[in-house]
Amino acid sequence: MKHTNFIDALSTDNMDAIKAASKTDLHSHAFLSTKIENLEHWVGHSVTKPPERMNGLEEMMEYVITVLAPLQKSREGFEFVSSSGVNDAIQDGVVELEMSFDIMMTRFYPDGLAGVKTYIEDLVKRYKPQINLRPELGFPRIHANDPKLMKLAHEAIELGVFKSIDLYSYQEACSPEAVQSLYAKARASGMKLKAHVGEFGGAEEIRRTVEVLDLDEVQHGIAAAESVEIMQWLSENHIQLNVCPTSNVMLGGVKDIASHPIRILYDHGVRVTINTDDLMIFDQTVSNEYRNLYKAGVFSAQELDDIRCASLKGDVW
Ligand SMILES: [Zn+2]
Repeated sequence: MKHTNFIDALSTDNMDAIKAASKTDLHSHAFLSTKIENLEHWVGHSVTKPPERMNGLEEMMEYVITVLAPLQKSREGFEFVSSSGVNDAIQDGVVELEMSFDIMMTRFYPDGLAGVKTYIEDLVKRYKPQINLRPELGFPRIHANDPKLMKLAHEAIELGVFKSIDLYSYQEACSPEAVQSLYAKARASGMKLKAHVGEFGGAEEIRRTVEVLDLDEVQHGIAAAESVEIMQWLSENHIQLNVCPTSNVMLGGVKDIASHPIRILYDHGVRVTINTDDLMIFDQTVSNEYRNLYKAGVFSAQELDDIRCASLKGDVW
């Protein structure tokens, strides 16, 4: 990737140059990873857009289940959305992409995990010249008490295609202890360990989850800003938070971009990165997120460049 002065690009609002700069996206869910226009083009008709503000994950999931899921509940739909999502990331200048693939995708393949393995390996290979796609195994907390799915997740780790693991959906649906053996297995397989926690409050639960699961990074984790003690602890233990500003605003965890706690986290030495979460719903690329933070006065162009460069150097996996 050619060298681009990211600081100039931000301060002159040159979107092409912002896009041209190398970036990471370390928080992206494959099922919702492409722009909604691409889905509309694929299904051949317009799709109802999400409300601009939603009441937490409940309202977002209602939208996903009633509007988006019926359009892509097939192998073809899943493969279209995930490959289109990788392509969107490339168009946005993302060079390192950690995309999570939900364990439920296995139902689209008659040969189960063997089909999953083939598809993901092909996807990595297809886009290799343009992007380092690091597939992530995604496990929804609501299925932690389903022994069949838990067994499947253990087997998925053995495939060797997943470089990291993530846990998500309603935080209260399962305690971190419920997935401790799965995470221990992922650790033993050399995977990076991540989980969604602290998206809507509860600083102490972030520390507890990091400790129980031995996490390397936290998805969201913005509630840490409520506690100086937790921020210091995250900083001292080099726990990175993969933050998605627009997602936090649209789901009501944060009032607006200008008051996003990513500033407080940064000022307390917590390592943060800037990511998309679900491009299909939140409609902001990584470049848009950087631009939004700059325009809202949350960070200077220099600080955003520092965050960008640090996220690229963080690639030790
Ligand atoms: Zn997420």
